[in-house]
Amino acid sequence: MLFTAAFSAFACSEKVQEEKEFNYTDERFADVQILHYEVEGFENLSLQQKTFIYYLNEAALWGRDILFDQNGRYNLEIRTMLEEVYQNYKGDKNDKNFKALEEYLKRVWFSNGIHHHYGSEKFVPGFEREWFVAQTKCSDEIAEVIFNPNVMPKKINLAEGVDLIATSACNYYQGVTQEEAEKFYAELKAKGDQKHPVMYGMNSTLVKDKDGKIYEDLWIANGKYGKAITKIVENLKLARPYAEDAKQQEVIDKLIAFYETGDLKIFDEYSIAWTENTEPVVDFVNGFIESYGDPLGMKASWESIVNFKDIEATKRTEAMSNNAQWFEDNSPVAKEYKKESVKGVSAKVINAAILGGDLFPSTAIGINLPNSNWIRAEHGSKSVTIGNLTEAYAQSSNGSGMLEEFAYSQTEIDIIKKYGQFTDDLHTDLHECLGHGSGKLLPGVDPEALKAYGSTIEEARADLFALYYLADAKMVELGLLPDAEAYKASYISQMQNGLLTQIVRIKLGDQIEESHMRDRALIARWAYEHGKGAGKDGKDVIEMVKRDGETFVKINDYEMLRNLFGQLLAEIQRIKSTGDFNAARDLVENYAVKIDAELHKEVLDRYTKLNIAPYKGFVNPVYTAVKDKSGKITDVKISYEEGYTEQMLRYSKDYSPLK
Ligand code: ZN
Repeated sequence: MLFTAAFSAFACSEKVQEEKEFNYTDERFADVQILHYEVEGFENLSLQQKTFIYYLNEAALWGRDILFDQNGRYNLEIRTMLEEVYQNYKGDKNDKNFKALEEYLKRVWFSNGIHHHYGSEKFVPGFEREWFVAQTKCSDEIAEVIFNPNVMPKKINLAEGVDLIATSACNYYQGVTQEEAEKFYAELKAKGDQKHPVMYGMNSTLVKDKDGKIYEDLWIANGKYGKAITKIVENLKLARPYAEDAKQQEVIDKLIAFYETGDLKIFDEYSIAWTENTEPVVDFVNGFIESYGDPLGMKASWESIVNFKDIEATKRTEAMSNNAQWFEDNSPVAKEYKKESVKGVSAKVINAAILGGDLFPSTAIGINLPNSNWIRAEHGSKSVTIGNLTEAYAQSSNGSGMLEEFAYSQTEIDIIKKYGQFTDDLHTDLHECLGHGSGKLLPGVDPEALKAYGSTIEEARADLFALYYLADAKMVELGLLPDAEAYKASYISQMQNGLLTQIVRIKLGDQIEESHMRDRALIARWAYEHGKGAGKDGKDVIEMVKRDGETFVKINDYEMLRNLFGQLLAEIQRIKSTGDFNAARDLVENYAVKIDAELHKEVLDRYTKLNIAPYKGFVNPVYTAVKDKSGKITDVKISYEEGYTEQMLRYSKDYSPLK
């Protein structure tokens, strides 16, 4: 599971203002701003650690093409075509068509495909079809995919009542209907180990051949995506001798064995070894991990992150994980849905060294893995907050004007300025270290029972856990917050974001699709509705105040709001624990999807005036190995000079085995 930057425009603190001269911001296009991130502390690592990181970074870059293909079967071909036109164009580079192609290509790089990385809708090209076809050998089939708005309009469709596979452009199923796919996996599950089920379907394309036989085309070294996987394995083998301990070598061995066989039991063994390997400073994720990109929530997209521990900041999350059982015991959730013993929730703050696949260029700021429910219950999970990325986000949004535009009054602005940075970081830590790891399924409940609503419910569960505890005296007692007022910053952010500001990321007329956004809307709107007349003296807990045609969110009763978060947490945990699909659907459909058109327009107008990019993503640093005559690495240099376009073209040239 991952945690995305909620809305970093609110982040603002003293820490941010006294910064050094690192240049975080790069270019802007469409709805995106590109940032650089600084790999703080890399120079202080040992040569062994730097060498280890170097090879793991290489392994992280070789999987990029896999994701492009997973996101849509024409993506690689289209990317290659666009890059050729872009690099070989002989006409005027200031003409309208070329400019539009350049922006479109930048968006395709950013989304790893032709659909928006977040909203999932297909991009509308600004260049003419006739012009494009004249530049390159583009078949009618491909031209239709690029230019016809009715062909593959969405990457992931979660709308009710239609075949989700047929209406989604993602490339995980070939020739099968949703019903056939669900039946195929239901049968596998029924036959398999009930207590320790593997993550069925996560590493394959489900195909129906011309005889009507349905089978899994595995993503392995000598199977589908084999050329990319072989390069990944090669670099994992080069990294292996530099691992920090024997357990970490075992982790690499298991991962390689999984890439070579596709055996999901080996993947579970790998996940357990990885979860238990908490000592090393350097760590990494490389593989098929998250299933947000599959409308059925099974197929995992390829991603990688290489990172190392930020020792100082990790003290903060350790204070939390050392008290994990206390948090579990004292939550408002019913006793039968709680874990009797919370297993090793390891938590740390890390700095990212490189981002790859589904974590690049748009990325998470926190990660909690593995995703297997029984492994989490029996072996715990690893949870990280990515410190240097959070820092880069905060830097870039400082002084954007967002806070001043949408805050109800100076009081809210002051609270956010004073406490925002503390509570933002802490919210992420609580969400990842404790939220996702809390609670349990009742025996026999299918972990996928909530189907398309599962991700939203899971994210809401983790967020509510965080919101509930941010206001707890325990936070101050553990030294995580400075005083009993600080949590208000997170409540203001949550309610403003969920009721108002997050919809700036959505086009007028569209609905909320992405799980984290649905989660935030669900929480804010549910609390708003259930807080009517429930505050002190019968007042509303939260008000939507109109002032000169502009809407503001005002919290009248913070204590009661915490109480509401607790009530909703208890209900959402019940839904998860019992696999109550109908209740999940009702909550999500009633609170998390639709947007009031009038309010949407108002918020977009106010936001447009501020001229801020709603999405951010990153350029990776460039690592250069200095080698001696024998080819052994003697040092690894890092530089931040490379720009976005340069980097994307280089990756497409040097790390593209599948096109
Ligand atoms: Zn999460």
